[in-house]
Parts: sequence; structure tokens; C-alpha cells
Amino acid sequence: MLYRKPCGSVLEAIGNTPLVQLRRVVENLPVEVFAKLEFLNPMGSSKDRIAKHMIEAAERDGRLKPGGLIIENSSGNTAMGLALMAIQKGYRLKVVVRDTISQEKLNQLLALGAQVHKVDTSLPPEHPDSYNNITPRLARETPGCFFPDQHGNRENNAAHYAGTGPEIWEQMEGRIDYLVAGAGTGGTIGGVGRYLKEKDPTIKVVAVDPVGSVFTPHFRGEKNPKAGPYRIEGLGDEFLIPTMEFELIDEMYQVSDRDAFQQARRLVREEGVLGGGSSGAALWAVLQVAKSLPALGRPARIVTVFPDGAGRYLSSIFNDAWLAERGLLDDERGLLEAGE
Ligand code: PMP
Repeated sequence: MLYRKPCGSVLEAIGNTPLVQLRRVVENLPVEVFAKLEFLNPMGSSKDRIAKHMIEAAERDGRLKPGGLIIENSSGNTAMGLALMAIQKGYRLKVVVRDTISQEKLNQLLALGAQVHKVDTSLPPEHPDSYNNITPRLARETPGCFFPDQHGNRENNAAHYAGTGPEIWEQMEGRIDYLVAGAGTGGTIGGVGRYLKEKDPTIKVVAVDPVGSVFTPHFRGEKNPKAGPYRIEGLGDEFLIPTMEFELIDEMYQVSDRDAFQQARRLVREEGVLGGGSSGAALWAVLQVAKSLPALGRPARIVTVFPDGAGRYLSSIFNDAWLAERGLLDDERGLLEAGE
């Protein structure tokens, strides 16, 4: 058994996450599926990697000064990674979140000492106080602050190119047919996709975003796609953003809230793998790939990424009443009864 050496601080515990083969959820399909469990990072998501990378880049080039203020908008996970950096390195942090953020994420951010600014998600995208407009404005109005801008900062993608990509390549010993991952900022799919394609250009990169996001319609060539509402956290956007590297993507799928949440619940129940909603979305996309495979003469080897964990969604995706109220409870027996 190989043990990791003690980490000098919690920051050294970021990355090097396990890659785990999923069996039951893909039973009888001609695939071998391996999931990168990013929810095992110290703050519980893949975003610890980008927070560390973006902050250290800003320290190097002088955009972030000792004791400085960091301002960022985040579905919660990047904010938690930044909160960790702020605690360890002595910065202050203000985060802008959507008012659809789960209570668990909000409480954790407050526990970590972040100042939280909630945005009304019903505001139209062009409104000056909309989720995408308010943070750049706050950053402009606050002299000396650092705005990491995960949606416009390719250091985000670079974090996955430097970390997640090489880890996956090593863990799979280079035998990969498909990378399947959710696209939020696009940092994961861009950074990992670029690294894997450089190593082996035959690897196919498949992205998934929610119905209502503009990414897949854009990928399919639709002009000026219209955004719509969805409940999956962390995936998709109402705008095209600079961190989305469409040129690296071979295929895109759009998942409904219902399918993503159902697969997240299956993942927990059938594998004991505690993924969140976007992990469910990734698993759903893996199943779409598995259903439309060309004949390889052997099982296709698919790697996917599970960005955060079920613990952040116990009051939403894993709560029957919450799902039922929104007409999303598919399994008629629900969780409680099914557990009896
Ligand atoms: N899932 C969750 C829960 C996330 O917070 C994010 C980050 N927005 C993603 C998936 C997508 O990752 P990326 O931003 O690298 O595309």
C-alpha cells in the first residue's frame, strides 16, 4: 500500500483525487467507465484546483497584494476554494451567488468567513444587477481588489491542464477512448480535453450542459440561442464565455434537471458514490455515449469527472419533498420508502 506523505498544509491536499471504476450503473453496456472523484478535494469540489491556480498566478504577477480583497461570482464551489485560499494566505473574500444556491453551500461559505452577496436570478441577463453583470461592476468600483473571473480567466483551464489532465492520463495508463464532462465555465473540459488530445488525438471529448444553457445550441450552429431556467448547479450559462473552448469538443449533449437528478440518486444508491447534481449530469451523458458507440471490438474506455458531492444537495436533489414540489420526483416511491 502506498501512503501519501503528510501535507504541509491543507493546500497540498488539493488534487490527486481517486479515479474509480463504476460497475452497476453501466451494467450490460459495452463500456468501462472511470470517474474522477473531485468531491474528495479539501473543500469538496474540483474548484479547489482552480482557486489555487488563479490565486497563485495573481500573486506572481502582482494583481493580488498581501491582505487584499478577492471578489468573485460562483455557484458556491469556486467560492469555497477561494475561501480556503483566503484563510490560508490571509486575504478577504466577497462572493456573489445566485439566490438558487443550496442552503448547505450558503452555510458553508458563511462558516468559512466569506462575505456573501445573493443575486435575484429572475433578473434578465442584461440587467445591471444580473448575476453576470454585478461582479465586474463591483470589482471596478472597489480599487485594489482582485477579480479572478473564472468565466474569463484561462488560468482556470490551465489548472486542469496542469493537474486533472495529467492525473487522469497517468491513472488510466493512457488507455482512454472518451472524456465525458460537464461544462460550466468549461475549465475542466477545456484543460483536461486539451491535455488528453495532445497525448492521444484519437480521444473524443464529450461535454454536457443543462437544457436552458446556450452552449449546446451554439455548438450545433444555432444563431443567438435563447437561455432558459434550469436547476442543475454549476453547469451551463446564459452567455458564451471565453473559457469555453468549443474547438476541443467533439460532441455535446443537453440534460434535463429530471435526468441529471435521477442519475445522481442512482449513483448514490447503486454505487455508494456520493456525487452531486452535475455528477448525475455527467453519468447521464456517459450513458448517451454508451448507447451510440461505434463498434470497437472491445469495451470503450470512458473517463468522467464528478465535480462535487451529494452532501451539498441533501436539502434539494436528495430530498423527496423538494423534488416533488418541482415536479421532478420520478421514482414514485421516493427515497424514504425505497430505503425501507
Ligand atoms: N459541477 C459543479 C457543481 C460546478 O460547480 C462546476 C463549476 N462551475 C462544474 C460542474 C463545471 O466545471 P467547469 O466550470 O470546469 O466547466
